[in-house]
Amino acid sequence: MSRSLRAVRGMNDIFLDEAETWEQFESLIRDWLKSYGYRPIRTPIVEPTPLFKRAIGEVTDIVEKEMYSFEDALNGEHLTLRPECTASCVRAVMQHSLLHSGPKRLYYHGPMFRHERPQKGRYRQFHQIGAEALGFDGPDIDAELILMCARLWDDLGLEDVRLELNSLGSAEERAAHRASLIEYFEARKDQLDEDASRRLYTNPLRILDTKNPDMQALVEAAPRLDAFLGEDSRAHFDGVQQILKDAGVPYRINPRLVRGLDYYNRTVFEWVTDQLGAQGTVCAGGRYDGLIEQLGGKPAPAAGFAMGVERLLALWQASGGEAEREVPDVYVVHQGELADRMAFGVAEGLRTQGFSAILHCGGGSFKAQMKKADASGAACAVIIGDDEAQAGEVTLKPLRDGGEQQRVAADALADVLADLLFAVEDDDGSV
Ligand code: ATP
Ligand code: MG
Repeated sequence: MSRSLRAVRGMNDIFLDEAETWEQFESLIRDWLKSYGYRPIRTPIVEPTPLFKRAIGEVTDIVEKEMYSFEDALNGEHLTLRPECTASCVRAVMQHSLLHSGPKRLYYHGPMFRHERPQKGRYRQFHQIGAEALGFDGPDIDAELILMCARLWDDLGLEDVRLELNSLGSAEERAAHRASLIEYFEARKDQLDEDASRRLYTNPLRILDTKNPDMQALVEAAPRLDAFLGEDSRAHFDGVQQILKDAGVPYRINPRLVRGLDYYNRTVFEWVTDQLGAQGTVCAGGRYDGLIEQLGGKPAPAAGFAMGVERLLALWQASGGEAEREVPDVYVVHQGELADRMAFGVAEGLRTQGFSAILHCGGGSFKAQMKKADASGAACAVIIGDDEAQAGEVTLKPLRDGGEQQRVAADALADVLADLLFAVEDDDGSV
């Protein structure tokens, strides 16, 4: 296949067994979110570029170098494939005045796009599941968002996921901290790398997030934000921690946790694991009380998180998690003019009765068709030759547990099949 026609680098096709794993995972996730009262929101994949610039911040990795932005060739609009979904949720909530009727718990799920260097756990199209709780200002909702993640790790059987927690304080407290950071780094300009020098006046907080080993000592000794937290911010942070302690969810306070997006304040958190190499953060979130106002809306508090589906699935599989293979109840094998015509009705009739059935298409010998039936994983084959067709009967052959094959009247097939499948489950002890 010509190189130019292959999928874009860092963007994956997901199919068959893996896609079924995704679907089972998504359905588990939906049930989990609903059990906390979160309701779905679906927003467009493309948004106006200024939305992300204003929400995420001009001096962030995402806006500076990761966005897929383009000009609409037809009308010149500046558009961007969404790199995350919080900005879109906030836009939608504002545009449709969703908070008029009170606070909202929302969740989304879908592809996000970032132009990063593809590697394990890091892709250019990846998927996030996120929850956003808008209109709530107390520490209770921050704690709820964290506790619900802890429950999901439990449900998935993940053991090695740790919680890191920090408070970024209020906008004013951050401003005071920022001023002292600038002063500190200004006095040590010769030790700053290129990224840090560039961010000194635009986003000094991000310097703390540096991965450059040569700057670790410098950053370690920099003024700490917690020294600038006022009474309200402290009380809020204490409130979150108290609920976590009551629930028995362990955490570590990481004063270096600042998050790569500008909109966060007060509580921020990440769930991290050692099992995924460098891409160890599976879920990240926090409070973003200023974002709605920053985008021109009536001020309202909010908090949320986003988790990376590819990373979570990798972790789930590494911990022995496995999706069930989805197999049909029946594979319908048929040969002969009369049998071919009858087979359609038989397969449709089974589906009407709630069974799943694959109808063999494309002809071939009985032997070849039976091979396909076996490979499909179906519990039974329904075999129709002209002989059966003339008698208004079919042959029912169990494929998995060695049961006897039997001739059955076509109109009794659903009942016999139900007995057989339930009986099989009884033997398993699974019913
Ligand atoms: P990182 O530090 O790994 O780049 P981030 O801070 O940019 O992460 P967020 O914007 O907070 O990530 O996104 C939330 C989650 O989405 C991440 O914790 C991660 O699990 C997932 N994620 C982010 N970027 C990618 C990507 N390029 N590929 C796969 N998953 C990603
Ligand atoms: Mg990133």
